[in-house]
Amino acid sequence: MNTAVGPRALCNLRSFEFDLWYPLFDESETECVVAIRHTGACSESPTGHSTVLRIHSSCVLGESLLVGRCDCRRQLDASIDLIGSIGCGVLIYILRHDGRGHGIGAQLESFPLMDSGLTASEAYDRIRGSADVRSYRWATAIIRKLGLKEVFLLTQNQEKVEAVLMAGVEIIGTSPCDIEHIQSIRHQLGSRPA
Ligand SMILES: [Zn+2]
Repeated sequence: MNTAVGPRALCNLRSFEFDLWYPLFDESETECVVAIRHTGACSESPTGHSTVLRIHSSCVLGESLLVGRCDCRRQLDASIDLIGSIGCGVLIYILRHDGRGHGIGAQLESFPLMDSGLTASEAYDRIRGSADVRSYRWATAIIRKLGLKEVFLLTQNQEKVEAVLMAGVEIIGTSPCDIEHIQSIRHQLGSRPA
């Protein structure tokens, strides 16, 4: 995976301008959309210094259809707002991660099981024989390609932490991606509108 190309365009996400990139490695589709925010608030390195990083798994039901059973939409909005207001960060949005990688069908099957008291992990394990089959290999490749040096990672998911470490990037901190913690991080890292 030596080459990384693909369409790019400047787009507004929740009123903040991001550089949206659909990366292709050796012509292979990565199934990721990368949103890069880089303003004058960043250091001289485009994305190299204390970058806020969110690796976000797609959730069509929660984010597009607004099925109110998960906090995926709130996490996505919170991460965009944080990176947008700080002016420096990267959001890697991974497609086809719905239902912890099992798909939307499995996600729908999981709802009644969770209503009966199972956790999401237990429900997917019962339905598909595995709690989580999401892969972060493209995220690792993209992080490596971006040349990130150190990041503040918005996640509690150890698999995502591992994906960043695999890319050889230092993690200077992690945080859950919710409104309460985001406000604290914004205060900590500094809100510097572009
Ligand atoms: Zn969701």
